[in-house]
Amino acid sequence: MIIKPKVRGFVCVTAHPTGCAAHVKEWIDYTKNQPKIEAGPKNVLIIGASTGYGLASRISAAFSSGANTLGVFFERASERGRTATAGWYNSVAFEKEAKAAGLYASSINGDAFSNEVKEQAIERIKADMGKIDLVVYSLASPRRTDPATGITHKSALKPIGNAYTNKYLDTDKKTIQDATLEAAAEEDILNTVKVMGGEDWELWIQALVDADLLAEGCKTVAYDYIGPKVTWPIYKDGTIGQGKLDLRRACKANNERLSAINGTSFVSVNKAVVTQASSAIPGVNLYITVLFKIMKELGGHEGCIEQICRLMTDRLYNNGETPVDEQGLIRMDDWEMEPKIQDLVSEIWPKIITDTIDEYCDFPGYQEDFLKLFGFGFDSVDYNAEVEPEVVFD
Ligand code: NAD
Repeated sequence: MIIKPKVRGFVCVTAHPTGCAAHVKEWIDYTKNQPKIEAGPKNVLIIGASTGYGLASRISAAFSSGANTLGVFFERASERGRTATAGWYNSVAFEKEAKAAGLYASSINGDAFSNEVKEQAIERIKADMGKIDLVVYSLASPRRTDPATGITHKSALKPIGNAYTNKYLDTDKKTIQDATLEAAAEEDILNTVKVMGGEDWELWIQALVDADLLAEGCKTVAYDYIGPKVTWPIYKDGTIGQGKLDLRRACKANNERLSAINGTSFVSVNKAVVTQASSAIPGVNLYITVLFKIMKELGGHEGCIEQICRLMTDRLYNNGETPVDEQGLIRMDDWEMEPKIQDLVSEIWPKIITDTIDEYCDFPGYQEDFLKLFGFGFDSVDYNAEVEPEVVFD
């Protein structure tokens, strides 16, 4: 099969196995060139391990710290002439590279919100790994079925209080449009908190505590975002922001759960990067193109792997206290939020119209990163060559 990108709005419905493997290899090579983590984690569970920040966390744990990893994700294998999802190909490629480096790597493809997948993970950890010393929680999902009630909740990306109109980038047409999002109903807020809040993270930690599978001094971290004022109505102050507030609540509850084993729970506020999840948030993709242009020019530009390697070495495993802000949050968005960067974003934002995209936005950089998520745009890959879409785990 010859596989080309088929972009439909903010998703690409095809993925390239060799290209995804090249992407994983690129992140592994970056990680190998970073300082090794001294006294880092050795047995790591990553929930949401196949793409974006979770994949970067898995790669960093394995290749900076020599960790055995169990990855949980929800991806689709290739079937009936369709390619697999990028996360499937990424995970097959990661496992191959980790095993070649002598590391244990195993994966569970299923619904992380379910009791069944938690039980499967616990059995796998008991059988193969021993106690876990780091749990990374990096899910981004549009829906969650609550195992206690069987009800499926759908998250919403809506402002709270009033409808909100802002610019967004139509990446297909390369135009700037206005989009109005209606204000969330109370139910939208509750549903988004159910999906993107911290309840499921707590269920994971409790299940692992009950099974006595967390090591003394175990750490857990989940990822948060705050972002610039121009996205606050839709992000920080919107339904998703309520989900993130709940994540912080859950972090405190997890700290209590972990206190008997001297464990610590963290929320890390990460930088805006191009992932499948962030491409779907209206306004955030436009902000990312502006941010990337500024940070590439002024310095400090990072993607997922650079962020997570810095999180591991400078914050979580820096041989001392993990630095946090006054709210107890790890701030990996420190460079993004520097006033000199954010002042420029505020200055530029009103000037962005379709005709000024090239002046103010890193549109080519955004597109390049977006296509790379699906394994496209790597010089080492011949995209005109036949490739087998069915790729299986060993
Ligand atoms: P992503 O879309 O790249 O990854 C999501 C992961 O969740 C994938 O591995 C996917 O398979 C998995 N997943 C989704 N539903 C699942 C389910 N039901 N069961 C098992 N696995 C499931 O997303 P991302 O952007 O890396 O986001 C991860 C976290 O980082 C989120 O909490 C997000 O809010 C946060 N974050 C993202 C950004 C950003 O700019 N992308 C910035 C800061 C924080």
